[in-house]
Amino acid sequence: MKPSNRIENITNGGSDGWEIFYKARKMMASGINVIELSIGEHDIGTDPAILKSMHKAAINGQTGYAPVPGLEELRALIAYRTEKKTGIKTTLENVIVTPGGQSALFAAHMAILDEGDTAAYIDPYYATYPTTIRSIGARERRIITSAENYFQPTFDQLDSATQKTKSLLINSPNNPTSMVYNKATIKNICDVAKKNNLWVISDEVYHTQIWAGKHISPREIDNMVERTLVIGSLSKSHAMTGSRLGWLIGPEIIISKAIDLATNMTYGVPGFVQQAGIFALEQGKKFEEKISEPFNRRSKLALDILKDFPCLGHIPPQGTMYLMLNIRATGMSGLSFAGKLLDVEKIAVMPGESFGEAASGHVRISLTLEDNKFAETFRSICKFASDLSL
Ligand code: PLP
Repeated sequence: MKPSNRIENITNGGSDGWEIFYKARKMMASGINVIELSIGEHDIGTDPAILKSMHKAAINGQTGYAPVPGLEELRALIAYRTEKKTGIKTTLENVIVTPGGQSALFAAHMAILDEGDTAAYIDPYYATYPTTIRSIGARERRIITSAENYFQPTFDQLDSATQKTKSLLINSPNNPTSMVYNKATIKNICDVAKKNNLWVISDEVYHTQIWAGKHISPREIDNMVERTLVIGSLSKSHAMTGSRLGWLIGPEIIISKAIDLATNMTYGVPGFVQQAGIFALEQGKKFEEKISEPFNRRSKLALDILKDFPCLGHIPPQGTMYLMLNIRATGMSGLSFAGKLLDVEKIAVMPGESFGEAASGHVRISLTLEDNKFAETFRSICKFASDLSL
């Protein structure tokens, strides 16, 4: 007996880009003290007040099946916030609550692509994009950007890659590059989507973490609402990664199909988690700034330290919880550099190649350590890279 071809095809028998992460976890389990800067996990836990509201909801009985599309109050709140931010009419029928943004990414592709259709995404990309596309039986098409253009796709790159594709997945603020797509890039994306009749899936899970520029959702651009699906999540904005609470926003017809999918797969999100999500969203902007501010501070610390290492390059951080360090001066790939850094310095970072070929010769560093410890670790990484440079 053997697994299906479709499920075999998810990783295609090859690497899934997480080798360094798994190796670091193994070392930690064997008692080695590894400094972990490879994943997007806050250095703080979920706020105790959010946990209290989760506990209260559970004790008060929200432990049975919750409505599959999500609690109406939560869907309405997400819709209200979206409409307020974008000016685009959004009702609860445009929202389904999902177990995290990842599940929304899966549902979005599943709802708009048939088997064998081609789905585009931009390289560098979040590690699960190609595997999500493959897991629903679609074919992937990468749009490879360049470090010189700070990894923002150009009109020509977008247009030529999407002649025969049905969807285009974008992510701004971007993991791993930390870039926030500017007005011109969003315009290019929307113009190409209309020209080539594409769905746009806009992954906006980092929208509260912006230090430069302004977040623009393609859904708010003229004539885009009917072809745009938005991915949201409380994982990053509210330090709730383990609660698995996200959502998909889109045209009613797509959301109703995503509800059919959820009925047959997740059967919704626990009611007590959703209740805590309502509480979290009600804390407003101040709370979101409290969660995001440390990453802004640490990205500035990193920029200061980089002044002492002129041989190293970087992508100027505009948002998210990451920084992309260019280590091409070492002559090493991101993968071999990250492997050596882990072996010698016991520091785990993500190789750029885990996010596609455009990010080769880079490593992504998570800004997820207390400030002093972060500064000390970041300096060690820079010194290590600088000593290896030719
Ligand atoms: N999208 C991006 C760009 C991410 O970086 C992540 C997680 O790191 C996700 C989606 C999925 O987040 P979650 O499923 O925790 O909401």
